[in-house]
Amino acid sequence: HKGKGVHSPDGEHLWLDLRHLGEQHLRTKLREVYDICMYFLGVNPITELVPVRPTQHYSMGGIRVNKDGHAYSLKGLWSVGESACWDMHGMNRLGGNSLAETVVAGMFCGQRMGQWASGQSLELDTKLASEAVAAQQDRVNNLLGKGVGKANENVHELLNTMQETLQAKAGIFRKGKELKEAVGTLRDLHKRSQNLKLQSSFKGANPELALALRLPGMIKLALCVAKGALLRTESRGGHSREDYPERNDKEWLKRTLARWPKGAKEPEISYEPVGLLESPPGHRGYGGAVNIPMKQSVEKYNKTVKQEWIKQGWHETATPLGAELKEMVEYASTKES
Ligand SMILES: Cc1cc2nc3c(=O)[nH]c(=O)nc-3n(C[C@H](O)[C@H](O)[C@H](O)COP(=O)(O)OP(=O)(O)OC[C@H]3O[C@@H](n4cnc5c(N)ncnc54)[C@H](O)[C@@H]3O)c2cc1C
Repeated sequence: HKGKGVHSPDGEHLWLDLRHLGEQHLRTKLREVYDICMYFLGVNPITELVPVRPTQHYSMGGIRVNKDGHAYSLKGLWSVGESACWDMHGMNRLGGNSLAETVVAGMFCGQRMGQWASGQSLELDTKLASEAVAAQQDRVNNLLGKGVGKANENVHELLNTMQETLQAKAGIFRKGKELKEAVGTLRDLHKRSQNLKLQSSFKGANPELALALRLPGMIKLALCVAKGALLRTESRGGHSREDYPERNDKEWLKRTLARWPKGAKEPEISYEPVGLLESPPGHRGYGGAVNIPMKQSVEKYNKTVKQEWIKQGWHETATPLGAELKEMVEYASTKES
């Protein structure tokens, strides 16, 4: 809605008018919406306009894992569900898919994680963990004491600037100029987040402290998202570039990977093939509705997948790459015949 919304103390919003549907319809067919409006908002949708604004209900992308749920590069780190970047749903998250993914991944990856863990020894060097705990304890002590770095930045101010920047410049519809500005602001916020000073030094449940501990990581993640979006000069899935409306399979049939080396000022972005293809991605008919087809043959593309993934830290999987795809294709062809 970028500046075109209705201003309110909770931020800009649009009005949703459901009054034409009438009481009977709202109280029966849309009962859930009716209840949410009545009990959470104190607004009666039968007679009143409903204020609405966008909110995030899923994070696409996540810890890049192989099909077993095993994270790239780091042996022993596993991830499923919303925190993972798995292969089940490609580049978008359609309604209902994420709960399906948690159920399927929980079973499928859980079994593989169990198999892997049963082959490991429980003897380990705890020095690294102790050092990490001590570093966090120092950080907490400093935050509750004199502050960190130059100790001149307010946690809430940085959080608000980050949120406003993402909402205005890295939202559903993006363009290069705004993404560039967002990257600039987030780089600056990342630097400033090293200089936090709290208003409250309370040692118990202290929301300001909890936020201060999370904020640098939140800003880093925001910068990964904005930088990846700036570099991706096409539209795909949930990434709609107003300046590049077409889905460009010729140049962008690849996944963005972001790494943040220790001490670096910003993330390193690299790319890998999306996975084994059965056929070239088809025309979808929504969004920009224009796509630039891939030039390479599917066979040639598929040949590069495994070696490119290994370069990025992919671990060998319990069943060979493409085994499930092959099974599915065979199953589908027996059904057809
Ligand atoms: C408003 C909204 C509407 C949605 N609607 C739908 C829908 O209609 N259909 C659909 O399929 N999906 C929907 N989703 C998405 C779906 O709910 C989530 O993707 C899914 O619940 C994620 O499950 P998860 O188990 O991966 O993660 P989560 O459910 O987020 O579980 C992570 C758990 O880890 C805990 N945790 C965090 N940090 C730590 C820590 N340090 N130590 C220990 N525990 C920790 C958290 O407390 C949490 O319980 C919606 C999400 C939102 C926000």
